[in-house]
Amino acid sequence: MSSDGDGSMGYVKWYGHAAFEIKVDDKVVLIDPWIKNPKSPLKYINELPKIDLIIVTHDHNDHLGETVEIAKKFNSSVVTTFELANEMRGQGIDSIGANIGGPIKAKDLTIILTPAVHSSTAGSPTGVIIRGSEASIYHAGDTGVFATMELIGKMYSIDIALLPIGGHFTMGPYEAAWATKMINPKVVIPMHYGTFPVISGSPEEFEKYLKTLGVSTRLVVLKPGEKYEF
Ligand SMILES: [Zn+2]
Repeated sequence: MSSDGDGSMGYVKWYGHAAFEIKVDDKVVLIDPWIKNPKSPLKYINELPKIDLIIVTHDHNDHLGETVEIAKKFNSSVVTTFELANEMRGQGIDSIGANIGGPIKAKDLTIILTPAVHSSTAGSPTGVIIRGSEASIYHAGDTGVFATMELIGKMYSIDIALLPIGGHFTMGPYEAAWATKMINPKVVIPMHYGTFPVISGSPEEFEKYLKTLGVSTRLVVLKPGEKYEF
C-alpha cells in the first residue's frame, strides 16, 4: 500500500452495514450500496461523490440497496453475478455480468468475485476482491467462514479485508477471527453488525478472538461515515 504520486489518497469508507465506498487508483467504487440503512450518515444519494463502479455481492435488499438509483444518477457500471446483471439490464442499468473466480477488468481495476457461503435469489452469493496498484481489498459479502479463504489470502495478498461479524446471517466474531487468521490481511475492518438487534456481534468480541487466536492483523474499527486511508 502506498499513497505517493499525486497526493490523492486511496481510502475505504464505511456507510454502515455492508456498504463501502472505496477509492483506489483514483476510481471510486461502491460495494453493496444500501446507503439509506439505519446507521448510515447519508440521507440522499447526491451526497455521494461521482461513482465509477458499483459492485453488488448478492440480491438481498440490504446489499442491493439503492443500486439502481445510484447507477442511473452517475451512469455507473454495475458488476455482479450474471443472473442479477441481466435483471439490472432490464432496468436500464449498464451492468457487467460476471461469475465466481473469473477476473474481469472494469475501470482499469481487476475485480474477482469470490465464493460466499450464503443464499440469494438470482445467481450465487459472492464476495469480491478489488485489485488496484495501490491495494488489494477483499469484501467477503454475507458469508459463513470457509477454508478457501486461506487460498484467497495466499493468491491475492489481501491488504484490507472487510468481514461480517454480526452473526445470525453471517459469521459472528469468533468465525470472523478464524477467517482473518486464514486470509492474513494487513488490516481487517468489521462490518454487517449492529444494524439490527439480531446481528449483535461486536468489534470488542472480535478483537478478543483475534487475540486468542494470535492473529497479528491490525484491527481497524470504523464508525459509519469514517474512512481508513491508505
Ligand atoms: Zn444476504
